[in-house]
Amino acid sequence: TPAKPSSSIAKVRVIIRVRPFLPHEIATRNGNSTPCVSVLDSEINSTQEVTVHLKDPETSRNECYKLDSFFGQEDNNLSKIFDREVGPLIPGIFHGCNATVFAYGATGSGKTYTMQGTDEIPGLIPLAMSTVLSLCQSTGSIAEISYYEVYMDRCYDLMEVKPQEISVMEDKDGEIHLKGLSRVPVNSMSEFHEAFSCGNQRRKVAHTGLNDVSSRSHGVLAITVSSPCGEGSGLVTGKLNLIDLAGNEDNRRTCNEGIRLQESAKINQSLFALSNVIYALNNNRPRVPYRESKLTRILQDSLGGTSHALMVACLNPGEYQESVHTVSLAARSRHI
Ligand code: ADP
Ligand code: MG
Repeated sequence: TPAKPSSSIAKVRVIIRVRPFLPHEIATRNGNSTPCVSVLDSEINSTQEVTVHLKDPETSRNECYKLDSFFGQEDNNLSKIFDREVGPLIPGIFHGCNATVFAYGATGSGKTYTMQGTDEIPGLIPLAMSTVLSLCQSTGSIAEISYYEVYMDRCYDLMEVKPQEISVMEDKDGEIHLKGLSRVPVNSMSEFHEAFSCGNQRRKVAHTGLNDVSSRSHGVLAITVSSPCGEGSGLVTGKLNLIDLAGNEDNRRTCNEGIRLQESAKINQSLFALSNVIYALNNNRPRVPYRESKLTRILQDSLGGTSHALMVACLNPGEYQESVHTVSLAARSRHI
């Protein structure tokens, strides 16, 4: 059985990941590929605290923020983030604890890439799934997945052929239930890939009929593990949520109208609520404002208490203003 995690109060770690410049970006920058974000060399491998420097190459404006860890462009492989930051959350799932990993950042900053990866470079989701499956084998546990999206404060089950809206209910013990949400048993990576890619196809058009709402909704993959609990025939259940958040937008810079403006307002509201919840947890506030958005309400049982969480703030190395926006919100969630 994997080691039981210590029961100290779980903080939410907030880390940075900078994606590389893409070939066409380097071309349009006349070969200048200095990223707008960096940390001191001596802090690159730190897991304690890092000071993230942001610098605008055009105006030389700059800012700095303190965060928990930094993964730069040279770490073009997600196994390092996985091994250091996500892997350690998994054993607890087999003891009935919950955990949550968020990818946060602007559209185009690498959130989906970080979570899903590519066929050659698996992202945090497939890496987590394969770790869970091998622990299931050695412990006789069972894994199931649910996949849903939160769009305009409504939840849709992506495991249904035609994604249905599902209602969120709280029982008398304060536990949150997503009524009728599908759970698909997973015994192998090929079963996982099949189910997950069906869900991803649906996420692109889902409920709205619009093209690709995936960057304007939060995508939540939940891996539920049921493990024999030693005594008798009981099972203990733990859950790992892996979340590709909607792209955060700086309303001063985007000129959204109509439905886009409404979407954008909902997105920013839910990301702000998430940041408030993380701040309250990290700063031992007596009251944690879970009820401020659908997203935080759904995650109430997986954030705080004995649940561990990680926020990966993703950055596009060529976007200074956007990166400041992302990093400032991430840093604000972290500490006083
Ligand atoms: P987001 O989900 O935040 O909108 P994406 O994950 O779609 O952003 O990434 C934007 C673009 O950058 C995509 O073309 C993606 O393939 C590419 N990209 C992101 N991260 C990396 C990386 N680490 N290495 C190579 N390309 C990346
Ligand atoms: Mg995306």
